[in-house]
Amino acid sequence: MAQSSIEWTEMTWNPTTGCNKVSAGCKYCYAEVMARRLQAMGVDKYKDGFKLRIHPEALEIPYGWKSSKVVFVNSMSDLFHKDVPLAFIEKVFEVMNDNPQHIFQVLTKRSDLLLQYNSRLKWSHNIWMGVSVENKKVLNRVDDLRRTSARVKFLSCEPLIGPLPNMNLDNIDWVIVGGESGRTPRPMKEEWVLDILDQCKESDVKFFFKQWGGTNKKKTGRILLEQTWDQMPY
Ligand code: SF4
Repeated sequence: MAQSSIEWTEMTWNPTTGCNKVSAGCKYCYAEVMARRLQAMGVDKYKDGFKLRIHPEALEIPYGWKSSKVVFVNSMSDLFHKDVPLAFIEKVFEVMNDNPQHIFQVLTKRSDLLLQYNSRLKWSHNIWMGVSVENKKVLNRVDDLRRTSARVKFLSCEPLIGPLPNMNLDNIDWVIVGGESGRTPRPMKEEWVLDILDQCKESDVKFFFKQWGGTNKKKTGRILLEQTWDQMPY
């Protein structure tokens, strides 16, 4: 487990590491850059770099946390990657089921496998399930998520690289929006963000504005309409 600088969580927990790219949002994958850096530093967990790896020993970790946490599961991977066996995903869910004092935020781009496995998983109230939606080409992920039995469902629209007009937000609890950062970030237009904010207000969905992004994300900050937007689905 590691402290996280991500604004909408507190900690990260990575029972799997590594991944491969599936859609445009993956282009400048932060996890890939970080995994290669950790590999170069000789960190054992990342000795295979960004190749998908299962870490059964990590399943014990949440049992040792003393106070309740908000935890981003698999910040360095995608739990629903096709090479993660369903039996291992079930074990990860068992750990989350066993630890209702913590909130676990699971985020995937593989909504097809999420939906396929849905009935095999026990959706305790402390599991928040999200899908990444970077542009309208992947809006099918929202429909897949909606059909799951997760109690809290959320969208991570980051990096937002295109408009998302007229989304169906039925049964969605929370939307996070953020612009891309790094050396060559793709731009995010303010009008796209404001449109998503309006859709959230209309559908009574909580809204979290993470960042404008850009080459200097500290400078561009996270103010939208003269305020921060830190709504959470609880
Ligand atoms: S799905 Fe996530 S972790 Fe995997 S390559 Fe894409 S951005 Fe990176």
